[in-house]
Amino acid sequence: MSEFVECNMSPTNLNVTVSSFPMKAPICEICLKNDILCSGCNAKLEEGKITPVDVEVSRKLVKLEEKMPSLKSVELKKVIETRNSYILVVKKGDAPKIIGKRGSVIKKISEVLGKDTRVIEETKNLEELLQNLIKPANIKGINILYTPGGEIYRVRIPATYRRLIYLSKNDIEVVATLATSRKVEVVFE
Ligand SMILES: [Zn+2]
Repeated sequence: MSEFVECNMSPTNLNVTVSSFPMKAPICEICLKNDILCSGCNAKLEEGKITPVDVEVSRKLVKLEEKMPSLKSVELKKVIETRNSYILVVKKGDAPKIIGKRGSVIKKISEVLGKDTRVIEETKNLEELLQNLIKPANIKGINILYTPGGEIYRVRIPATYRRLIYLSKNDIEVVATLATSRKVEVVFE
């Protein structure tokens, strides 16, 4: 048997790259499309590397791919649920694909998830991440506290900006801590 698969592509659609693979998510491709978890993904869940929210939201997003093909090339890193919303952490550069033109894709996602949903791009740079989280407010500074339990990143935000910030103080702390694996504390001053 030939190892090659006959290619029926006509020259007109040669430049069309429609991926047949689903988006990348915290769980594997098989688990994305089934209701049970494979042993690998199950181990990640038990070790706390992924959460039930990661699993649930990833599966719901994959179901939207047919209608919204831009999702196929998105790499979803983490899903964080706050009191009023979901925060989707995606690979750097992927935000426009999951937000869509004039927010069309993210609006649909919010509808399907049943909660207001926001997107932030993954970054190792804490300041950049926080800046994205608290837009349009600004950070005054970040102090690193060295404690016996490890480093705490104390983020100082001017109190006058508080009303401009969509997330609660606790939500900012949770999201920043989960997205950067650093302990983050927010103070309004
Ligand atoms: Zn799996």
